[in-house]
Amino acid sequence: MDEESKLNGRYYGGVDCGTTTTKAVIIDSSGTILGSDVRRSGANLLESAEEALAEALEQAGLERKDLSLIVATGFGRRSVSFAQETKTEISCHSRGCYHYYRDALTIIDIGGQDNKVVKLDASGRKTSFKMNRKCAAGTGAFLEEMAYKLNIPVSELEGLARKSTAGTELGSFCTVFTATEVLDRIRGGERVEDIVRGLFISVAKRILEMEMLSGRVVMSGGVVAHNPIVAEIVSERAGVEVEIAPHPQEMGAFGAALFAVESRSTEEIREDTLSVSRR
Ligand code: ADP
Repeated sequence: MDEESKLNGRYYGGVDCGTTTTKAVIIDSSGTILGSDVRRSGANLLESAEEALAEALEQAGLERKDLSLIVATGFGRRSVSFAQETKTEISCHSRGCYHYYRDALTIIDIGGQDNKVVKLDASGRKTSFKMNRKCAAGTGAFLEEMAYKLNIPVSELEGLARKSTAGTELGSFCTVFTATEVLDRIRGGERVEDIVRGLFISVAKRILEMEMLSGRVVMSGGVVAHNPIVAEIVSERAGVEVEIAPHPQEMGAFGAALFAVESRSTEEIREDTLSVSRR
């Protein structure tokens, strides 16, 4: 980005420090994404957030000093000491999705260690939300654990499930018993492709147990970003259309950046009002 465009614009950062991945997004005041990054959160959340933001800034051709405001969200948002403000991930996912859909929505976010179902009315106001953070069943961690037990990279699950020819459903609920069931079924001669599709069916079932779907149904989070088959299964099972949000894994960071734009605008209005009253 050249110096003249930098001077003409204002830029904002959103950082989503999740239990599993840390995301950073840089936007301009219209909400256009100029740079983004996703990386594992690791043990040092602040370091991951710093690195993610640095990479997103580099893509955008900007430096930290060019950002008017940074908002942090996610499980580890309080570790992001360089952010000026924090917002909950429920607010940020909602804000990010509403930017694209402007409609009554059910937003389903499947993350590394939690699932969220948030409902918005047509004006973007939150009318209800449910969050499962107590149990790994149906989360990204469940899929990662099953991939590990099956000795398959997590990135190959989607491709395998698409080769399934049987409607295998797993009977177990919790992660530990599902692992035992999966290995027993493989030993019993069932195809791994069918078992993996069965794992995605389990994820969809856990979501559908949480809440009735209404309005436009939109999915976000790392699980659907890498496994869009989950949205197809939710759609089949619920009998409703299910859309995958744009840049689903970065949606929380994007929503945080939109809050940064709004917060900055409010501050500017306040400053203008003060300067007018001082005149
Ligand atoms: P967080 O809750 O930390 O925000 P995400 O929304 O990024 O997490 O989701 C993380 C989950 O996304 C992982 O647990 C995994 O199931 C899935 N995932 C992330 N990266 C990949 C990948 N490269 N291939 C397949 N699945 C992935």
